[in-house]
Amino acid sequence: MSENGNPRDEGREASSEASDAARRAGAGPTPDGDGPAHSEVAGHDAGFEDGALDEAEDQAAAESASAAPGRSGPHRDELAPLQRRDRPSHGREPELPRVKLFVEGRYRKLTRDLPQTVFFCPECKGHPRRRRNCARCEGFGKLTRESVQELVGWVLGAAFKTRRNKFHGAGREDLDVRMLGEGRPFVFEIESPKILDVDLAAVEAEINRRNAGRLEIRGLHWSDKSRVRVLKEEPHAKEYEALVALEAPVDPALHAALVGKRLQVVQQTPARVAHRRADKERERWIEFLAFEPTENPGELRVRLRTEHGTYVKEAIHGEGGATRPSLSELLGVGCVCRELDVLAILDVTGEPPPPPAKPLAFGANLQD
Ligand SMILES: [Zn+2]
Repeated sequence: MSENGNPRDEGREASSEASDAARRAGAGPTPDGDGPAHSEVAGHDAGFEDGALDEAEDQAAAESASAAPGRSGPHRDELAPLQRRDRPSHGREPELPRVKLFVEGRYRKLTRDLPQTVFFCPECKGHPRRRRNCARCEGFGKLTRESVQELVGWVLGAAFKTRRNKFHGAGREDLDVRMLGEGRPFVFEIESPKILDVDLAAVEAEINRRNAGRLEIRGLHWSDKSRVRVLKEEPHAKEYEALVALEAPVDPALHAALVGKRLQVVQQTPARVAHRRADKERERWIEFLAFEPTENPGELRVRLRTEHGTYVKEAIHGEGGATRPSLSELLGVGCVCRELDVLAILDVTGEPPPPPAKPLAFGANLQD
């Protein structure tokens, strides 16, 4: 990465070793279940910080090993039917080559409490020893119980019989932002699987059954390593719907005049990310598509498209002039983004991307 020159993404590669490190460290049981959890890994805290991560600026994927399945994770027996071929139950297990498998799909996130990847505690980084006395996470090692990565990884991991994985998303959204529409593309990298042939349609159905109303996976199919780079490096414009609170009533003619125009906005690095981003100006386009009243006269539903890397919430409230112009400035009243949904991941120009290529046949993606 990155066309954003985003320093946050450095060191991500290291995080894949989390599960191994935990295993070596003899990690104890997780608070809610069995098995080793993640260990201290450089770069884990590079992901979510204070839950303030902005969807907009992230082209890079999060890569980290998912935490061990707890009670909410799948049980081996339940997932047995997902495996077409299980290991023979007699004799010695054959030596399996170290392989990686890549599966790809799209996720729809229907709640406002789910981070994309494992949300390690910024204080203890989920380290098995240090987290015990950590006041921030009370020994849990994470700040949320689960993430898209874990909800997907628990089922895939049980089916492929491995806990090691990396989650590569085509950008990401804040944990309080829903991902609707056709969903966001992701590649799930499965490391050292002990089962190679898994019924992905059954896995997808199981993930969706377990997470109804929270998370939905679509089109899970075999993929390959080259797709990771494509997903991480392709800049995407996005379409959003924001629920905007207005400080005072606005003449509808004012916002009607904004619809359909592509505006250039200049954004100073927002305060909420300033601790990990260089303070600098960036210029991005935004385009308002629609303003709709809600049942509440102090609110508007605003549909907009923004260039990749736009700080969307700031484009609405303006952060005291750090983003200019903002919707607050354009309407002449203070605006606050109450809720935000991503409706579509677009191509770089703001048009819907072409339909996906035909998935690979099974086995075409084996890597040593
Ligand atoms: Zn902690």
